[in-house]
Amino acid sequence: MSGESTVNGTFLPAVVLITGGAGFIGSNLVRWILRNVSDVIVVNLDLLTYAGNIESLQDVVELHGPEGSGRYFFIRADIRDSEVLARVLGGVAVEQSTGRRIPSIDAVLHLAAESHVDRSILGPAAFISTNVVGTHTLLECVRAELSLRSRPFRFVNVSTDEVYGSLAPEEPAFTEAHPLAPNSPYSASKAGADCLVRAYRETFHLPVITTRCSNNYGPFQFPEKLVPLMITKAMQDEPLPLYGDGLNVRDWLHVEDHVSGIWMTLTRGQEGEVYNLGGDAEITNLELVRMLLDELGRPHSLINFVADRPGHDRRYAMNATKSQVELGWAPRHTLANGLRETTAWYAENRDWWVRVKTKAQHPMEIHRSIA
Ligand code: NAD
Repeated sequence: MSGESTVNGTFLPAVVLITGGAGFIGSNLVRWILRNVSDVIVVNLDLLTYAGNIESLQDVVELHGPEGSGRYFFIRADIRDSEVLARVLGGVAVEQSTGRRIPSIDAVLHLAAESHVDRSILGPAAFISTNVVGTHTLLECVRAELSLRSRPFRFVNVSTDEVYGSLAPEEPAFTEAHPLAPNSPYSASKAGADCLVRAYRETFHLPVITTRCSNNYGPFQFPEKLVPLMITKAMQDEPLPLYGDGLNVRDWLHVEDHVSGIWMTLTRGQEGEVYNLGGDAEITNLELVRMLLDELGRPHSLINFVADRPGHDRRYAMNATKSQVELGWAPRHTLANGLRETTAWYAENRDWWVRVKTKAQHPMEIHRSIA
């Protein structure tokens, strides 16, 4: 295995630790790196909460697990467990299922989180615990590891546009300089994590970078989130629950565009900086759901307006100019094509979403209990 290095200003890690790699974005990131970056070893550390699905990575295990290229490791662990983190970062942990020694880590891509806004309204404590305390635990372990061995290392904190708060219709899109003004317990916990990441840079000189992205969609997204919730309900000819008047605006980013942006941030970004990753696809939730219904050939009459979510942000929009200029990143998917591919994926992978849907309480049951 070649050592990690920086060549012509590009950071080239040999071993990358992805936290939350069994989740929606994490599993797409694991697959994307193993497909597109030769030689890099990926270590996926995930607690496998209701949102983590190891079966989303079956193809990866076959191609890159112990029987394949050997470039993929999985460790079931909690980011709040500093003992395990220290062993993994220091290269003295073993993969639980095979006993293979996990090589020492050159970069952390931190995605593990409680990620669903509705759940954060029902129970904020889990969000503070995983997103704030968990991120802090990880930062402390990285700090301890780097104090033992001075070497090239990077930590990318994957955050969200929701930390910026809500925009009025005429306001310009969020830049990285926009003040943090989170409105839900979820976004407050992510903003807390972002602030800790920043503080560890300013105080302890940790080599950190934060990305903030807009709403993701694509394959392997847990069906409590808007796009797969609506697709799977429409496929079952059930009513599609839409909050409020449906005129809340979101910017949509295909998950493959997001994960390529995370990789570009890791390899080309400047330490201490924040990068926005947006899809350049602003649309109301109502228009989005109509597009999905048209794609599936189902009637708009399936839309069922329900009482609004408390603290529901009206509009998010991202200015990703800095990422385009400094990283050379741009989204490749148009919303229309991305939604077509995504509806086709859910049609072809019914077994996957039926299985994962039974693992957790349905989001509209959550909605009913908070309404
Ligand atoms: P997800 O809920 O699908 O996956 C989260 C993963 O983290 C799961 O596999 C879960 O098992 C794991 N996890 C949770 N708690 C853990 C813990 N204590 N220790 C270890 N693992 C734990 O989330 P996602 O949609 O893939 O989001 C990934 C990241 O991107 C999150 O940080 C989220 O805040 C951020 N983000 C997501 C979106 C989006 O549209 N999905 C948008 C902006 C930012």
